Amino acid sequence: MIRDIRALTFDLDNTLWETDISILNAEAVMASHLRNLAPEAWMADFTLENFRKIRALVETNHSEISHNFSAVRRKTLALWFQSKGAKVSQSEDLADEGFRAFYRERQNVTPYADAESTLEALARKYPIGAITNGNADVMEMSLGRFFQFSLQAQEFPKAKPHPMMFKEALTRFAIEPHHCLHIGDNLEHDIVGAQAAGMKAAWINTRQHSAAHVIADITIESLRDLLKYL
Ligand SMILES: [Mg+2]
Repeated sequence: MIRDIRALTFDLDNTLWETDISILNAEAVMASHLRNLAPEAWMADFTLENFRKIRALVETNHSEISHNFSAVRRKTLALWFQSKGAKVSQSEDLADEGFRAFYRERQNVTPYADAESTLEALARKYPIGAITNGNADVMEMSLGRFFQFSLQAQEFPKAKPHPMMFKEALTRFAIEPHHCLHIGDNLEHDIVGAQAAGMKAAWINTRQHSAAHVIADITIESLRDLLKYL
């Protein structure tokens, strides 16, 4: 059971919406935008599979940015165009263009059916923040009206489960860790991370997984279930 909760933080991806579909859409928009801008030969074999091969290299060779999905995507695109013979400045420009198209579409998500009504009910009682490792920006969405702030890992040196972002949220709320409940779908990032920062953690198990080694303070199967506890 959870008591004395005074503020909430939410993970975003796969907690408030299904993420894979929004990323696939954003990648398709990015690719078609780049096809309009770059010489045909440079885009001839631009498939998701080939993009991901270069992305994996970037993640391995540039571990300093591997938690920053935006930087990784930009770098991957720049390397793609350089490998096709583009000059550095040209490859950077195309990477920026591609990333911008991706990022815009990335904010076009379909929240779970109970997300809006649940957040609306909770926002009447608690201040709410977002903590995400991805590059969705809830403040750009209509759901943003329920949030006081949104923390993205790309603005921090470390992503979840590192306590850094959780601590930043606690500072912004000006509360003790045990008065804050974090809600998320990822056992390692959200539950282990929040608890390591001293917070309470609610695991939203939308995919009917079993929790082998991690004990959340509460486990719910839909966002709506939160209202039974809060
Ligand atoms: Mg998530």
